Amino acid sequence: MAEAGIDLSTSIQYLKGIGPKRGAALQSIGIQNAGDLLYYYPRRYLDRRTITSISDLKKDDSATIVGEVVSMGIERGRKKRFRLIIEDGTGYISCVWFNGIRYVQNKFKEDQSIALYGKVGIFGNQFTMVHPEFDLLGEGQNPLKTGAIIPVYPSTEELKKVKLDSNGMMKILKNSIYPLSSQVFDYLPKELIAKENLMELPEALRQIHFCEDEKLLEQAIHRIKYDELFFYQLLLAVRKQSAKTGRVGIKFTHLGNLFKAMYKSLPFELTESQQSVLKEIQKDMAQREPMQRLLQGDVGSGKTVVALLAASVPIGSGYQSAIMAPTEILSKQHYNNAVKLFGNTDINIVHIVGGQSKSERRKLLDMVSSGEANLIIGTHALIYKDVVFHKLGFVTIDEQHRFGVEQRSEIMKKGVNPDILIMSATPIPRSLGLSVYGDLDISVLTDMPVGVRNVRSELRGSGSRKNIYEFINDKLKEGGQAFIVYPLVEESEKMDLLAAKEGYKLLSEDLLREHKLALLHGRLSSKEKENIMREFSEGEIDVLVATTVIEVGIDVPNANVMLVENAERFGLSQLHQLRGRIGRGGEKSYFIMISDAKGEAAGKRLKVICETDNGFKIADEDLKQRGYGDFFGKQQHGIPKFRLADIVTDIAVVKKARIAAFELIKNDPHLRLPANRLLRDKFMKDYAERLKFIETG
Ligand code: ADP
Ligand code: MG
Repeated sequence: MAEAGIDLSTSIQYLKGIGPKRGAALQSIGIQNAGDLLYYYPRRYLDRRTITSISDLKKDDSATIVGEVVSMGIERGRKKRFRLIIEDGTGYISCVWFNGIRYVQNKFKEDQSIALYGKVGIFGNQFTMVHPEFDLLGEGQNPLKTGAIIPVYPSTEELKKVKLDSNGMMKILKNSIYPLSSQVFDYLPKELIAKENLMELPEALRQIHFCEDEKLLEQAIHRIKYDELFFYQLLLAVRKQSAKTGRVGIKFTHLGNLFKAMYKSLPFELTESQQSVLKEIQKDMAQREPMQRLLQGDVGSGKTVVALLAASVPIGSGYQSAIMAPTEILSKQHYNNAVKLFGNTDINIVHIVGGQSKSERRKLLDMVSSGEANLIIGTHALIYKDVVFHKLGFVTIDEQHRFGVEQRSEIMKKGVNPDILIMSATPIPRSLGLSVYGDLDISVLTDMPVGVRNVRSELRGSGSRKNIYEFINDKLKEGGQAFIVYPLVEESEKMDLLAAKEGYKLLSEDLLREHKLALLHGRLSSKEKENIMREFSEGEIDVLVATTVIEVGIDVPNANVMLVENAERFGLSQLHQLRGRIGRGGEKSYFIMISDAKGEAAGKRLKVICETDNGFKIADEDLKQRGYGDFFGKQQHGIPKFRLADIVTDIAVVKKARIAAFELIKNDPHLRLPANRLLRDKFMKDYAERLKFIETG
């Protein structure tokens, strides 16, 4: 029974069997009070489904085995080792430790039940696991004998020191699970629980720790995952609501003459998807709610043209449009494109960046605030305080992942709820899109302008390097330009930089000495970087030796070769982005990856790049191979760390939770209905920090 006076907010040390020492250890992993304990979920379960009998083992299986200790001891052969023999009634398996012997040798006693996890090998005719993971099981806990489902809790050294290994955690939870879980309120509205057929929360919390059967466990896990994903989707729904639905924006009901004139003057036909995306944008613009749309499309799919055409609509109605890019050089590129496209019209285009002289900046800012400037292009300098727009109606933000929610809301404040279009050249698999861009409407350019790019991709070993450089030499002599890319990661930054520098030295003194080379890397100041990029794009530099800083870069129409060293160290999406830098002028181009990575997997991985030029396919493959944490690398993606849910593998739950969350916010935008009161409290408590950038409309 519950101890008197214990509730969810009781400090953890006062729970039965805990005390100050264990309390401190639990606090070190974030369990402050009794209620937190409920959310410390098992990392796995031992039961009949997950345990393999020793007699069923096969070499190279990754298996979970439960058995009893038969014998153990230290052996001195060529190398000292500790051996443990386990038996499960169907056979024997031998576990071997070469390291940490002192630690493991005191862990076991004969007849002790243990669970083992590891890869099965066969040595001397005997099943063997080397350095397996293991959990000691308590008396009568062998699930093979009892049919029980045993939870296995994550543990740390600190917890183990105070005897809170998996078993210890289980004992603590056993005492408190009922009294504590019965105090939990289910914050999801009754109607939703019924509609989604969810287990009640207190019951789910009980089942997840002490499950009675597999079906109930599944339902419990589903409920917890649902909650995690639902609250995140609720955040996205609230964000979207406050940026869009809850606001009154500008209605651009007519495309206007400017748009029509520009459309007619295009030197090419728009692709089908460019046309349909323009229709989506036009529809958004005609609504009273401000547009919040993401435009995704591979490098070269023609996003910029779409954005510029869209920008002409508000300008035609007397408003201003703005384009914000992550770097000066990219903003300059947009500026040049705009000047070309709007060339025959009388609109005024200004370019605002950080380094302009005071007087020039003053002049430009005056044009912006008086309304004389119609199209304003620049970097984040556009969100500085002194930039005052006359009548801002539309903003395009290029390369969203460099900016983020915060900047989005900053630029929105520069006008009265202008329409926003965010452009991204990083294809995000659909499954991730719902979580990453879940607060935006999404448009995708699915086709490429025909005949624009002709890039051949090859994978080679380092044995071919000399031939490759001769080939590059030829291409340069014919007037082309080349990128040579070296990998650079933070952990081995010094070594990586050295490799790039050495490569640069060797090439400029020897193999490519007839050409002008430059070295571009992340240690250079942004001014230096911009200068090098500019010289390269103007053709003053023939070969750019670079670390991956060029990933999101500029158009150099003349660049027709890219060589990537140690290609296996790049993610597939990254390689695809790099490849997008060449062949921009329509010339036949060459993307060459050098890799000596051993093993089938690495080669197979890189072959995907040679086989397809479809960024979404590549992104899907990349996601499959690396999981979404690595997919985004160091880029912020804003998705919280869930305890149980995985936005990729649980995509079906994501979809359900998303529909439910958005519907809820649609019907009760501020969560004011009595039925949603508990939900609101819980949401505000857990997500207050993330609501910071939202002002209620
Ligand atoms: P993105 O911004 O998606 O990388 P851009 O808008 O810069 O792509 O377009 C890449 C190149 O293709 C540009 O030179 C552009 O003028 C050209 N382009 C865009 N749309 C078309 C089209 N429909 N047909 C032919 N060329 C196009
Ligand atoms: Mg572009």
